[in-house]
Amino acid sequence: MKRILMIGTGGTIASSKGEEGLAPALTSEQLLRYVPDVSSFCEVDCLQLFSLDSTNLCPHHWLGLANQLRESYDSYDGFVISHGTDTMAYTAAALSYLVQGAKKPIILTGAQKPISFDSTDSKVNLTDAFICAASDTLHGVMIVFNGKVIQGTRACKTRSKSYEAFSSINYPFLAVLQDGSLLQYIENSYLPSPVFYDRLDEKVALLKLIPGAQAELASLMLERNDALILESFGVGGIPSYDGSDFLGVLERAMHAGKTIVLTTQVQNEGSNVGVYQVGYKIRSCPQILEAFDMTTEAIVGKLMWILGQTNEPQQIHRLFYTPIANDILNYRNRGE
Ligand code: ASP
Repeated sequence: MKRILMIGTGGTIASSKGEEGLAPALTSEQLLRYVPDVSSFCEVDCLQLFSLDSTNLCPHHWLGLANQLRESYDSYDGFVISHGTDTMAYTAAALSYLVQGAKKPIILTGAQKPISFDSTDSKVNLTDAFICAASDTLHGVMIVFNGKVIQGTRACKTRSKSYEAFSSINYPFLAVLQDGSLLQYIENSYLPSPVFYDRLDEKVALLKLIPGAQAELASLMLERNDALILESFGVGGIPSYDGSDFLGVLERAMHAGKTIVLTTQVQNEGSNVGVYQVGYKIRSCPQILEAFDMTTEAIVGKLMWILGQTNEPQQIHRLFYTPIANDILNYRNRGE
């Protein structure tokens, strides 16, 4: 029988109602009691790492999770991490960089309704997560939610209330689950043994542009951080209206050793800055990295992971454009 480690972190799935609303209360052991049928196909050990609404999860919690996975990796066949949905996609992306090439499934799941409610998605999601964690053909970090198996670097929370909370962005589902049967479309590659990392640079900031945004904002954020992700419009452009010299700010920051990534705030299909004049000039600035089809969640995790390893621009550039866990596909036409 497969041996699975279940790691509890909190979230709605484990929440109960108090005077101030829902808050995590149940341990992973208590959650497991709601899905007794999983004992027919796996043996589960339970561990409670934290008990947090995922709004309060920070990069040091991702490092804690990665460290736990490293310590337990050889003792188990698969892992289930129960987690709040709000930042689950960020955790899934970060873990995809912190634990690379794992053959064993590392499954994140949660729910939109607490497991103790009469009407809830918790039990199906949790059972599906164990089915996936016991699989021999699913590898690495994934989110299992509402019958879909999503690559950890491709997930995004796109619905705040209904059960279909997550989408897979610019990438197909790896598998689906129907009434407890796993139908797998894609089998990921893996390494002979996984590579674990234990450092992240948290000084990564994100600026979503709005019409008329002032370059000083970017300047301020760059002063306080090592990297800035600029969520631009459409396929990507840098504004250049009177009195706002974004490109100048970015160029000065790059000379001061900062890392800049340009992405788009449009969720699907990604960037291509070569299309319009407003973006074209970025191509003559190869130090500005373009995110192409990556999700913002994955950019955040990848930058924190890269800058945790190096501050050397050529290495940053090379690592950013090295696909990891299928995080970037459409980057080859970047015109270098
Ligand atoms: N606020 C909750 C959390 O992210 C939402 C959920 O789990 O669905 O922890």
